[in-house]
Amino acid sequence: MAWSVAQALAMDQSTHAACRVCLGGARPFMTVQGRRYWRCRRCRATELDAAQLPDPETELQHYLTHRNDPADAGYRRFLSRLATPLLEVLDPASEGLDFGCGPGPALAAMLEAAGHRVRLHDLFFRPDPAALGRCYDFVTLTEVAEHLHRPHAVFRQLAGLLRPGGRLAVMTALGIDDRRFADWRYRRDPTHVVFYRVATFRYLARSLGLDCRRVAPDVVLLRKPGSGGKSSTPPVVAASNTRFCASTTETARARA
Ligand SMILES: [Zn+2]
Repeated sequence: MAWSVAQALAMDQSTHAACRVCLGGARPFMTVQGRRYWRCRRCRATELDAAQLPDPETELQHYLTHRNDPADAGYRRFLSRLATPLLEVLDPASEGLDFGCGPGPALAAMLEAAGHRVRLHDLFFRPDPAALGRCYDFVTLTEVAEHLHRPHAVFRQLAGLLRPGGRLAVMTALGIDDRRFADWRYRRDPTHVVFYRVATFRYLARSLGLDCRRVAPDVVLLRKPGSGGKSSTPPVVAASNTRFCASTTETARARA
């Protein structure tokens, strides 16, 4: 049975929280079966209350129920919603990172079949912290963003791994009519804790100095300005303790 929106919205409007996507101010949005959600006033993200985030063991047990078989044609079709527009803009033999690749790195296999190199990192299934100390032409997050407990820090870190002209390709459900939020299948996944809109990514991109383009109903491509140029040098730690990757030319200039 659908929840009454009026009932769900009947919350204490006097409290505030920090948005975990943009660090702006969030207000209570809705409570569904005891799960409290907040809505950011700035980037429009909707987030589960911080006190209700699942612990790592709960997350792992849930992820183990996912079927991510690289040989599954249906799963590959699903991933092609991100892979196809990304492949259209990548230079030949690009280097990328599949962040949160899961147990069956099907997307990496698809991109490698097109001639690119893909490094894997997944906190639960393929932990490779060193992968976060390199620069890439592209970074992919497929069905990962909605699981992030600290999205602001993660997006900032990943944007810092992009070479000039590099792409951050994100696939996640992009918003739903608020009247359908309570019954939304995507919301009911206990490990989905943050829900984005296109406006959320546009704000995030601006704050990170990236361009943002929606290329499919649930896919955005964020692009770092500048033109390519491969660099194998690790990211430079800037004064603000953030990292940035330079092109070969820029690296040479910085050393001069
Ligand atoms: Zn926000």
